[in-house]
Amino acid sequence: DEDYDLGFDFLFKISVIGDAGVGKSNLISRFVSDTFSLDTKSTIGFDICNKIYDLDGFRINLQILDTAGQERFRSTSDFLFRFCAGIILVFDITSKTSFQGLDFWIEEIYKSAPDSAIIFLVSNKHDLANDQGTFVITDEEITHFQEKHPKILKIFKASAKENMGIKETFHELASTILQKEK
Ligand code: GDP
Ligand code: MG
Repeated sequence: DEDYDLGFDFLFKISVIGDAGVGKSNLISRFVSDTFSLDTKSTIGFDICNKIYDLDGFRINLQILDTAGQERFRSTSDFLFRFCAGIILVFDITSKTSFQGLDFWIEEIYKSAPDSAIIFLVSNKHDLANDQGTFVITDEEITHFQEKHPKILKIFKASAKENMGIKETFHELASTILQKEK
């Protein structure tokens, strides 16, 4: 019966990485199930979720990997990056530490991710950036970071809290991967 067709044409593995607390899990849950949670769960291990996504007449199984509570535990990199088609590198626009943490993540990508992986950079928590006086990483700093790392193909602004920029990010990533694959 067509209604119960769980098949798909492509499987794209996408890893969402970045320091703890930047909002990775909430970005994913927004995209997958349109929910946002104020609690941080820090379970140990990985969360893997699948979302069937219709794109250009194809059914894409987006398999999204989220690190849970062991963000900088090096021995996880292999599993995180093996066969991955896309990487979403996340930082918190109000956190200098999380922006500086990108250097660590870029190194991990160079070491362990496939050369073919499409890499997007996402600054999250833009809802907080609207408050007067809030510290934010500037566009110039972000552009400068991208210039140093040309493997980063695109940059997106997001808020998991306000559900901004998330669909766009995943859609563009899936489209870019599909262009290569089909
Ligand atoms: P992770 O450790 O990267 O998975 O981050 P979480 O998704 O667990 O989020 C960490 C904390 O930041 C939680 O308290 C979230 O509610 C909060 N958070 C996540 N995204 C946003 C956002 O876009 N705006 C705001 N204001 N808070 C956010
Ligand atoms: Mg998390």
